[in-house]
Amino acid sequence: MNYNYVPTFTGPGHASIYTGTTPSVHGIISNQWISRTGKPNVYCAGDAAVQTVGSSSPAGKMSPKMLFTSTITDEVQKASGNRSKIIGIALKDRGAILPAGKYPTGVYWYDGSNGSWITSTFYMKELPKWVSDFNKKELPAKYLSQPWATLLPVEKYTESDPDDNECEEPFKGMAKPVFPYDLSALMKDNGGLGLIRSTPFGNTLTKELAVEAVVNEDMGKDSITDFLALSFSSTDYIGHQFGPQSVEVEDCYLRLDKDIAELLKFLDEKVGRQNYLLFLTADHGATASVPFSLKKNVPAGNMEEDQVADSLKKYFMRTYKDSFLLAVSAFDIYLKRDLIEKKKLKLEEVQKKAALYIRSLNGVADAVSEYEIQQKNFQGDTIRMKIKAGFHSQRSGDIIYVLKPNWVLGFPKGTSHGSPYLCDTHVPLIFFGWKVKKGSTDEALNITDLAPTICSMLNIPNPSGCTGIPINKLTEK
Ligand SMILES: [Zn+2]
Repeated sequence: MNYNYVPTFTGPGHASIYTGTTPSVHGIISNQWISRTGKPNVYCAGDAAVQTVGSSSPAGKMSPKMLFTSTITDEVQKASGNRSKIIGIALKDRGAILPAGKYPTGVYWYDGSNGSWITSTFYMKELPKWVSDFNKKELPAKYLSQPWATLLPVEKYTESDPDDNECEEPFKGMAKPVFPYDLSALMKDNGGLGLIRSTPFGNTLTKELAVEAVVNEDMGKDSITDFLALSFSSTDYIGHQFGPQSVEVEDCYLRLDKDIAELLKFLDEKVGRQNYLLFLTADHGATASVPFSLKKNVPAGNMEEDQVADSLKKYFMRTYKDSFLLAVSAFDIYLKRDLIEKKKLKLEEVQKKAALYIRSLNGVADAVSEYEIQQKNFQGDTIRMKIKAGFHSQRSGDIIYVLKPNWVLGFPKGTSHGSPYLCDTHVPLIFFGWKVKKGSTDEALNITDLAPTICSMLNIPNPSGCTGIPINKLTEK
């Protein structure tokens, strides 16, 4: 599957999988963005009007209210007359909340400040007993009391570079990024119980809660379709810190493979393989780490938001004797539209000049103004088409920029993602179980085709903003 928009981040990724459309329609344009009307910093799953359930931290002030469209899960719930059990689970709040939609039975994410699975008053007033019982087991503390050693002898990690290398960001308090990791010693300086996110045991913990959900919510027991939306977030945390070439990432996937095997075995026994339909995909890919690319003589670099902001401010001062920059938020650049108007300048002109300037920065591949994005369809320009599909006029910036291949934003070591290139946009999709015939394809399909495929297989309406098309190979009767 190919992500047919930018930026390829977690929030937009989960939203696009489950809504069958791009950020231009579902509105999740990034993980966070800048609001011109309310409080400036908006988080894609944030909701100040709700409270945390399950702990006293603010980590539960979350809901799916930022989504403009319905999700597969919403359509499943509607089709069953609200009789479906729908559960969203992920360490990352946005990885649980956006997939589960607006009418789930429960959505749970991890509060690293105390090691609890929590939810919000958007969903319920108190945690179900099975979730608080699970929290009482204090599994995060147990997992972190053991070292993280490689699953296999280290010489078996043939898809990775040597364990000790300069592409990786060591944990705080360690001189080198090497196995074995003494997790209990690392907790103090690396987020306490939140450290589990950056280990493969974060995925194991997620799987364990998922098993409890199926058992305690009686999922898959009757003729009504239930939906379990899981996201394994540790792959991303470990990927950011160590990069795709690391032994840490390879070990994480070897262990995730085991976790998934255990989950499938459990589902086979509990629900029966012909009674569940499973799809597995990713919310984005990853770029090679910058030092890794440079080592191989591939042009690459790291860019910081502050660098973009500082140089644009200076440009504005030189050109207009005033800075029109409001904020740089990831790949969105927001301008002070009121000030531009006060100075009797044309917004479209200032945007155009600023975009032209941003395009001159080392590491930038392209920058497009809001005016251009609104006016043109960019047919044939695959990168600008992705910019347009990722753009929502109520939320996006005045200028959207894209970095050159192998350039990343804010990760001099480890890596990131967010680009329009295949390393970040191309992800696997695996179907398994109910109605799935054997086969494979490397046909270019869009991530937005996944939701209508599921809806077609379930014979239910598509999500409200769906713009994808069903994958015929899977849906033909
Ligand atoms: Zn990430």
